Amino acid sequence: MQAIITKINQRYPELTYKSGDQFFWSPETREIYYNQASTNQNGNWSLLHETGHALLQHTNYQADVELLRLEVAAWEKARELASWLGFAIDEDHIQDCLDTYRDWLYKRSICPNCHTKCLQQDDKIHYRCFNCHTIWRVSTSRFCRAYRSTKDIPQTAKVFDA
Ligand SMILES: [Zn+2]
Ligand SMILES: [Zn+2]
Repeated sequence: MQAIITKINQRYPELTYKSGDQFFWSPETREIYYNQASTNQNGNWSLLHETGHALLQHTNYQADVELLRLEVAAWEKARELASWLGFAIDEDHIQDCLDTYRDWLYKRSICPNCHTKCLQQDDKIHYRCFNCHTIWRVSTSRFCRAYRSTKDIPQTAKVFDA
């Protein structure tokens, strides 16, 4: 993995990589976190995916409906990088990740009170149920927090009185 990072940094010196527990792109600090302990090819794929977010300069302040589109774009960028580096990313893996992401977005949109699927409010933080008028807050959107292997996708919490 270090060899890949070195090669990417030669081409994109503006990118900053930091070793951490998991793979993610932090738009606030403009750093790409990666799990150094990960030695399988999935780790390399995640690294390229997060690099994709970084190169496309994705920010956190997006409505949920936009997020899936950004995930797809990051994977497209990851595919490009992989072919430049001389390997390929398994398509099933990409589809799995996108499915998991879809599930996560879906769960955020379900009313915790009456289980109706709802639309996010314009502030991008709250959902409001058009059926029972419950309002709930969702965590700040973050890229790629969920993968198939993680069975329990962290659910959103706080419910406010309508
Ligand atoms: Zn409801
Ligand atoms: Zn992502």
